[in-house]
Amino acid sequence: MKFTCDFCEGTVRTELARREYRWGDQLIATFVGVPCGICDRCGEHYFDSDVAREMDLLAQPLVLQLDDGPSTDAPLIDYSAHRHALQAASAHTA
Ligand SMILES: [Zn+2]
Repeated sequence: MKFTCDFCEGTVRTELARREYRWGDQLIATFVGVPCGICDRCGEHYFDSDVAREMDLLAQPLVLQLDDGPSTDAPLIDYSAHRHALQAASAHTA
């Protein structure tokens, strides 16, 4: 995937990025291996809506745990490993 940045007309290339997932002020988790378009000029990040949705799904149990009080450690989640699991799960239901 390669396209032109909406903001500066730089070139956006897909890389595997690190992404902090926050809920309000609370850091929930840090995702690694997240496919993300990054502008080579202004550094703007672009996420696929599917990617954003899957991160929401993966982080949801951790967000629910916030009811028990703020957590002190945010786990590191390898997005690429989970994504394959999610794809396999949806393939079974199809
Ligand atoms: Zn840009």
